[in-house]
Amino acid sequence: MPDETKTCEQCTKPFLIIQQEQDFYKKKDLPWPANCPECRQKRRLSLRNERKLYKRDCDSCKKSMITTYRPDSPYIVYCQECFWKHIG
Ligand SMILES: [Zn+2]
Ligand SMILES: [Zn+2]
Repeated sequence: MPDETKTCEQCTKPFLIIQQEQDFYKKKDLPWPANCPECRQKRRLSLRNERKLYKRDCDSCKKSMITTYRPDSPYIVYCQECFWKHIG
């Protein structure tokens, strides 16, 4: 199955739903997201703005990102890309 391109309802930017993500939504019987990852992330962050956010490197690709996990917490934290890679 090829990657699917959708248009974000929020910012009208096209975004990609990669194969692993499609499988995930199908498995969970969830509708595909209407917003791009950035808008989803922004909404998530605004929903939990009571939580502290930290800058941290992805444990897989070492890309810098924002997370609710402290940099010194022992949890493995992945950026969104790596998260979907590892979930399958
Ligand atoms: Zn968007
Ligand atoms: Zn990563």
